[in-house]
Amino acid sequence: MKGSRILVLTGPGKGKTTSAFGMALRALGHGGKVAVIQFIKHDGSYGEVVALRQFPNAEVVCSGAGFTGRARDEESRERHASAARDGWRVAREKLADESVGTVILDEIFYPLNYGFISVAEVVDALKKITPGKVVVLTGRDAPEEMIAVADTVSRIECVRHAFQQGIKAQRNVEF
Ligand code: ATP
Ligand code: MG
Repeated sequence: MKGSRILVLTGPGKGKTTSAFGMALRALGHGGKVAVIQFIKHDGSYGEVVALRQFPNAEVVCSGAGFTGRARDEESRERHASAARDGWRVAREKLADESVGTVILDEIFYPLNYGFISVAEVVDALKKITPGKVVVLTGRDAPEEMIAVADTVSRIECVRHAFQQGIKAQRNVEF
């Protein structure tokens, strides 16, 4: 039986989420079942989400309260925390479900760094995955514990980004 794999895609450069979706596509191409849980993002209007949902073997759950209102006040903090906990509940289920070969936890490092989800709990769930399972975790600032538990870690550098030149987020490129 193949061993399980845990991959972390982190760093300030562009390409983490799209790389993870690329891996989802690979697994689907081989007939595998894929679950994507997106933290932070609250709707499925991203091109990659719309595309992946067209595969019967893919499930995409968006469980975030959006990019804005960054946990500034108590009420918005609780809204973000609650969305993150809902996402983690689904993620935990998918991590334990042997029929799902690939699990993508997109932008999970934000709720982990905010303390909305317990790092120890995620590490524990990752350590229990069955052989053959693939888990990809993305987000800018991967906690040390996540880096330690992964077999593959890529940190994407930002050499330059159009945003710095005043170019706004664009369809087909950023969403
Ligand atoms: P992508 O979704 O394109 O693979 P990403 O997952 O690496 O990018 P995130 O850190 O999740 O990027 O950032 C979310 C949004 O910000 C995406 O629309 C992404 O394209 C854009 N972005 C990524 N890197 C930068 C950057 N260095 N400066 C400004 N915007 C960025
Ligand atoms: Mg991303």
